[in-house]
Amino acid sequence: MIFFESTIFWRKKVGVTKPKSAKTFGKKEFAYFLFLIIMSLFYIIWYGFGISTQRLEDTTVTMDLYEERLKINLGSTLTDSHLVERERNQLLMAIEERIVTFLYQIPDFSYIGSLETYLKYRPQLLEQFPSAVPLEKGNYSVTSNYGIRIHPISEKKKKHYGIDLATASGKYVYASASGTIKDILYSKKGYGTHIIIKHRFGFETLYGHLNKVLVRKGQKVKQHEIIGTVGSTGSSTGNHLHYEILKNMLQIDPKLSFNLKKNIYTHLIESNTTDNGVE
Ligand SMILES: [Zn+2]
Repeated sequence: MIFFESTIFWRKKVGVTKPKSAKTFGKKEFAYFLFLIIMSLFYIIWYGFGISTQRLEDTTVTMDLYEERLKINLGSTLTDSHLVERERNQLLMAIEERIVTFLYQIPDFSYIGSLETYLKYRPQLLEQFPSAVPLEKGNYSVTSNYGIRIHPISEKKKKHYGIDLATASGKYVYASASGTIKDILYSKKGYGTHIIIKHRFGFETLYGHLNKVLVRKGQKVKQHEIIGTVGSTGSSTGNHLHYEILKNMLQIDPKLSFNLKKNIYTHLIESNTTDNGVE
Protein backbone atom coordinates (compact mmCIF):
# COMPACT_ATOMS: atom_id res chain seq x y z
CA MET A 1 0.00 0.00 0.00
CA ILE A 2 2.93 2.27 0.65
CA PHE A 3 3.63 2.23 -3.05
CA PHE A 4 0.16 3.60 -3.97
CA GLU A 5 0.17 6.12 -1.20
CA SER A 6 3.48 7.40 -2.43
CA THR A 7 2.05 7.65 -5.96
CA ILE A 8 -0.77 9.81 -4.63
CA PHE A 9 1.79 11.82 -2.73
CA TRP A 10 3.77 12.29 -5.92
CA ARG A 11 0.65 13.40 -7.81
CA LYS A 12 -0.09 15.94 -5.13
CA LYS A 13 3.42 17.22 -5.06
CA VAL A 14 3.60 17.87 -8.79
CA GLY A 15 0.09 19.20 -8.82
CA VAL A 16 -1.56 16.34 -10.69
CA THR A 17 -4.98 15.49 -9.27
CA LYS A 18 -6.22 11.96 -9.26
CA PRO A 19 -8.93 11.49 -11.87
CA LYS A 20 -12.29 10.38 -10.47
CA SER A 21 -12.52 7.32 -12.69
CA ALA A 22 -9.16 5.91 -11.54
CA LYS A 23 -9.61 2.98 -9.22
CA THR A 24 -7.18 1.49 -6.83
CA PHE A 25 -5.61 -1.91 -7.46
CA GLY A 26 -8.71 -4.13 -7.59
CA LYS A 27 -9.39 -7.79 -8.34
CA LYS A 28 -9.51 -7.23 -12.07
CA GLU A 29 -6.15 -5.48 -12.10
CA PHE A 30 -4.69 -8.17 -9.92
CA ALA A 31 -5.90 -10.91 -12.31
CA TYR A 32 -4.40 -9.04 -15.24
CA PHE A 33 -1.16 -8.55 -13.36
CA LEU A 34 -1.03 -12.26 -12.50
CA PHE A 35 -1.73 -13.18 -16.12
CA LEU A 36 1.18 -11.03 -17.27
CA ILE A 37 3.51 -12.61 -14.70
CA ILE A 38 2.51 -16.15 -15.75
CA MET A 39 2.94 -15.35 -19.45
CA SER A 40 6.36 -13.85 -18.79
CA LEU A 41 7.39 -16.94 -16.85
CA PHE A 42 6.23 -19.22 -19.68
CA TYR A 43 8.20 -17.14 -22.15
CA ILE A 44 11.36 -17.22 -20.01
CA ILE A 45 11.15 -21.02 -19.54
CA TRP A 46 10.38 -21.67 -23.21
CA TYR A 47 13.08 -19.29 -24.39
CA GLY A 48 15.57 -20.69 -21.88
CA PHE A 49 14.84 -24.22 -23.05
CA GLY A 50 15.40 -23.14 -26.65
CA ILE A 51 18.76 -21.63 -25.73
CA SER A 52 19.91 -24.75 -23.85
CA THR A 53 18.89 -27.03 -26.76
CA GLN A 54 20.76 -24.75 -29.15
CA ARG A 55 23.80 -24.74 -26.87
CA LEU A 56 23.81 -28.54 -26.67
CA GLU A 57 23.62 -28.76 -30.46
CA ASP A 58 26.49 -26.30 -30.82
CA THR A 59 28.69 -28.14 -28.30
CA THR A 60 27.89 -31.49 -29.92
CA VAL A 61 28.92 -30.17 -33.34
CA THR A 62 32.20 -28.88 -31.83
CA MET A 63 32.88 -32.15 -29.99
CA ASP A 64 32.14 -34.20 -33.12
CA LEU A 65 34.58 -32.03 -35.03
CA TYR A 66 37.34 -32.59 -32.46
CA GLU A 67 36.59 -36.32 -32.40
CA GLU A 68 36.95 -36.42 -36.17
CA ARG A 69 40.23 -34.46 -36.10
CA LEU A 70 41.59 -36.67 -33.33
CA LYS A 71 40.83 -39.77 -35.40
CA ILE A 72 42.58 -38.26 -38.42
CA ASN A 73 45.55 -37.31 -36.22
CA LEU A 74 45.84 -40.87 -34.91
CA GLY A 75 45.81 -42.27 -38.41
CA SER A 76 48.33 -39.72 -39.67
CA THR A 77 51.16 -41.07 -41.78
CA LEU A 78 53.23 -37.88 -41.56
CA THR A 79 56.87 -38.53 -40.84
CA ASP A 80 57.20 -35.50 -38.54
CA SER A 81 56.03 -37.22 -35.36
CA HIS A 82 56.60 -34.06 -33.29
CA LEU A 83 54.12 -32.14 -35.39
CA VAL A 84 51.52 -34.89 -35.14
CA GLU A 85 52.02 -35.17 -31.38
CA ARG A 86 51.75 -31.40 -30.92
CA GLU A 87 48.50 -31.30 -32.86
CA ARG A 88 47.14 -34.22 -30.83
CA ASN A 89 47.96 -32.48 -27.55
CA GLN A 90 46.29 -29.30 -28.76
CA LEU A 91 43.16 -31.26 -29.68
CA LEU A 92 43.08 -33.05 -26.33
CA MET A 93 43.44 -29.73 -24.53
CA ALA A 94 40.62 -28.16 -26.56
CA ILE A 95 38.35 -31.10 -25.68
CA GLU A 96 39.44 -30.89 -22.04
CA GLU A 97 38.24 -27.29 -21.90
CA ARG A 98 34.75 -28.16 -23.12
CA ILE A 99 34.21 -31.63 -21.72
CA VAL A 100 32.72 -30.71 -18.32
CA THR A 101 30.08 -28.43 -19.86
CA PHE A 102 29.34 -31.04 -22.51
CA LEU A 103 28.90 -33.84 -19.97
CA TYR A 104 26.52 -31.67 -17.93
CA GLN A 105 24.52 -30.72 -21.03
CA ILE A 106 23.98 -34.13 -22.63
CA PRO A 107 20.58 -35.68 -21.85
CA ASP A 108 21.65 -39.33 -22.23
CA PHE A 109 24.39 -41.74 -23.34
CA SER A 110 23.62 -41.45 -27.03
CA TYR A 111 25.96 -38.42 -27.13
CA ILE A 112 28.97 -40.24 -25.65
CA GLY A 113 29.98 -41.36 -29.16
CA SER A 114 31.50 -37.87 -29.64
CA LEU A 115 34.03 -38.76 -26.92
CA GLU A 116 34.96 -42.23 -28.11
CA THR A 117 38.56 -41.41 -29.05
CA TYR A 118 39.08 -38.88 -26.26
CA LEU A 119 38.05 -41.39 -23.57
CA LYS A 120 40.77 -43.76 -24.73
CA TYR A 121 43.23 -41.08 -23.61
CA ARG A 122 41.41 -40.23 -20.39
CA PRO A 123 39.76 -43.51 -19.33
CA GLN A 124 39.75 -42.45 -15.66
CA LEU A 125 36.90 -40.06 -16.52
CA LEU A 126 34.67 -43.15 -16.86
CA GLU A 127 34.82 -43.62 -13.10
CA GLN A 128 32.92 -40.35 -12.63
CA PHE A 129 29.71 -41.34 -14.43
CA PRO A 130 27.71 -44.59 -14.75
CA SER A 131 29.73 -46.77 -17.10
CA ALA A 132 29.59 -50.29 -15.65
CA VAL A 133 27.15 -53.00 -14.53
CA PRO A 134 26.39 -52.79 -10.78
CA LEU A 135 26.62 -56.58 -10.35
CA GLU A 136 29.29 -59.23 -10.65
CA LYS A 137 30.24 -59.85 -14.26
CA GLY A 138 28.32 -62.64 -15.97
CA ASN A 139 26.38 -63.52 -12.85
CA TYR A 140 22.99 -62.03 -13.63
CA SER A 141 20.32 -61.97 -16.30
CA VAL A 142 18.27 -59.05 -17.62
CA THR A 143 14.64 -59.85 -16.84
CA SER A 144 13.07 -56.51 -17.73
CA ASN A 145 14.38 -53.65 -19.84
CA TYR A 146 13.82 -49.91 -19.61
CA GLY A 147 10.61 -48.75 -21.33
CA ILE A 148 6.91 -49.58 -21.61
CA ARG A 149 6.03 -53.04 -20.29
CA ILE A 150 3.19 -54.98 -18.67
CA HIS A 151 3.75 -54.59 -14.91
CA PRO A 152 4.34 -58.03 -13.31
CA ILE A 153 2.14 -57.24 -10.29
CA SER A 154 -0.58 -54.86 -11.51
CA GLU A 155 -0.56 -56.46 -15.02
CA LYS A 156 -1.14 -53.00 -16.50
CA LYS A 157 0.85 -51.21 -19.22
CA LYS A 158 3.35 -49.00 -17.43
CA LYS A 159 6.73 -47.46 -18.11
CA HIS A 160 9.61 -49.26 -16.45
CA TYR A 161 12.10 -46.55 -15.46
CA GLY A 162 15.03 -48.88 -14.89
CA ILE A 163 16.43 -52.27 -15.79
CA ASP A 164 15.86 -55.48 -13.79
CA LEU A 165 18.86 -57.70 -13.23
CA ALA A 166 17.99 -61.05 -11.67
CA THR A 167 20.55 -62.81 -9.49
CA ALA A 168 20.69 -64.77 -6.23
CA SER A 169 19.78 -63.15 -2.93
CA GLY A 170 22.77 -61.77 -1.03
CA LYS A 171 24.91 -61.09 -4.12
CA TYR A 172 26.87 -57.87 -3.84
CA VAL A 173 25.66 -54.68 -5.49
CA TYR A 174 28.42 -52.32 -6.66
CA ALA A 175 28.32 -48.57 -7.29
CA SER A 176 28.35 -48.07 -11.06
CA ALA A 177 30.33 -44.81 -10.66
CA SER A 178 32.08 -42.83 -7.94
CA GLY A 179 29.84 -40.49 -5.98
CA THR A 180 28.10 -39.69 -2.70
CA ILE A 181 25.29 -41.68 -1.06
CA LYS A 182 22.38 -39.25 -1.40
CA ASP A 183 19.65 -41.33 0.20
CA ILE A 184 18.90 -44.69 1.75
CA LEU A 185 15.18 -45.39 1.84
CA TYR A 186 13.12 -48.23 3.26
CA SER A 187 9.68 -48.88 1.85
CA LYS A 188 7.25 -51.81 1.94
CA LYS A 189 6.05 -50.93 -1.54
CA GLY A 190 7.75 -49.78 -4.74
CA TYR A 191 11.53 -49.89 -4.67
CA GLY A 192 11.65 -51.45 -1.19
CA THR A 193 15.03 -50.89 0.45
CA HIS A 194 16.91 -48.69 -1.98
CA ILE A 195 20.01 -46.54 -2.32
CA ILE A 196 20.44 -43.39 -4.41
CA ILE A 197 23.95 -42.22 -5.34
CA LYS A 198 24.74 -38.76 -6.66
CA HIS A 199 27.53 -38.56 -9.25
CA ARG A 200 29.21 -35.81 -11.24
CA PHE A 201 27.74 -34.23 -14.40
CA GLY A 202 24.10 -34.42 -13.23
CA PHE A 203 23.97 -38.21 -12.94
CA GLU A 204 22.25 -40.22 -10.20
CA THR A 205 21.86 -43.97 -9.84
CA LEU A 206 19.21 -45.92 -7.92
CA TYR A 207 19.54 -49.49 -6.64
CA GLY A 208 16.21 -51.05 -5.61
CA HIS A 209 14.74 -54.10 -3.79
CA LEU A 210 17.93 -54.54 -1.73
CA ASN A 211 18.32 -57.03 1.07
CA LYS A 212 21.14 -55.28 2.94
CA VAL A 213 22.54 -51.77 2.86
CA LEU A 214 26.30 -51.62 3.49
CA VAL A 215 26.83 -47.86 3.24
CA ARG A 216 25.53 -44.80 5.10
CA LYS A 217 24.02 -41.54 3.92
CA GLY A 218 26.62 -38.94 2.94
CA GLN A 219 29.36 -41.53 2.46
CA LYS A 220 31.64 -41.14 -0.53
CA VAL A 221 31.97 -44.25 -2.67
CA LYS A 222 34.29 -45.23 -5.48
CA GLN A 223 33.19 -46.96 -8.67
CA HIS A 224 32.88 -50.75 -8.12
CA GLU A 225 32.66 -50.33 -4.33
CA ILE A 226 30.18 -52.65 -2.57
CA ILE A 227 27.07 -50.75 -1.41
CA GLY A 228 24.57 -53.49 -0.53
CA THR A 229 23.19 -56.91 -1.37
CA VAL A 230 20.46 -58.14 -3.74
CA GLY A 231 17.05 -58.91 -2.27
CA SER A 232 13.35 -58.81 -3.03
CA THR A 233 12.05 -56.01 -0.79
CA GLY A 234 9.17 -53.75 -1.91
CA SER A 235 6.98 -54.56 -4.93
CA SER A 236 9.05 -57.43 -6.25
CA THR A 237 8.27 -60.96 -7.44
CA GLY A 238 11.75 -62.42 -6.94
CA ASN A 239 15.36 -61.63 -6.11
CA HIS A 240 16.61 -58.97 -8.47
CA LEU A 241 18.21 -55.55 -8.63
CA HIS A 242 16.16 -52.71 -10.08
CA TYR A 243 18.77 -50.33 -11.43
CA GLU A 244 17.98 -46.80 -12.59
CA ILE A 245 20.08 -43.98 -14.02
CA LEU A 246 18.88 -40.39 -13.81
CA LYS A 247 20.44 -37.66 -15.93
CA ASN A 248 19.50 -34.07 -15.08
CA MET A 249 16.57 -35.38 -12.98
CA LEU A 250 15.14 -37.66 -15.70
CA GLN A 251 15.42 -41.44 -15.97
CA ILE A 252 17.33 -42.74 -18.98
CA ASP A 253 18.03 -46.20 -20.42
CA PRO A 254 20.88 -47.72 -18.34
CA LYS A 255 21.75 -50.37 -20.92
CA LEU A 256 23.79 -47.95 -23.04
CA SER A 257 26.10 -47.38 -20.06
CA PHE A 258 26.82 -51.05 -19.35
CA ASN A 259 29.64 -51.58 -21.81
CA LEU A 260 31.16 -48.10 -21.84
CA LYS A 261 34.04 -48.90 -19.54
CA LYS A 262 34.54 -52.41 -20.85
CA ASN A 263 34.76 -51.19 -24.46
CA ILE A 264 37.33 -48.51 -23.64
CA TYR A 265 39.51 -50.75 -21.48
CA THR A 266 39.35 -53.66 -23.90
CA HIS A 267 40.55 -51.25 -26.59
CA LEU A 268 43.37 -50.03 -24.34
CA ILE A 269 44.56 -53.58 -23.64
CA GLU A 270 44.41 -54.48 -27.34
CA SER A 271 46.23 -51.28 -28.37
CA ASN A 272 48.97 -51.82 -25.84
CA THR A 273 49.73 -55.26 -27.20
CA THR A 274 49.87 -54.11 -30.81
CA ASP A 275 51.43 -50.65 -30.57
CA ASN A 276 52.43 -48.11 -27.99
CA GLY A 277 50.54 -45.24 -29.57
CA VAL A 278 47.92 -45.01 -26.84
CA GLU A 279 48.85 -43.75 -23.42
ZN1 LIG B 1 12.40 -52.83 -12.05
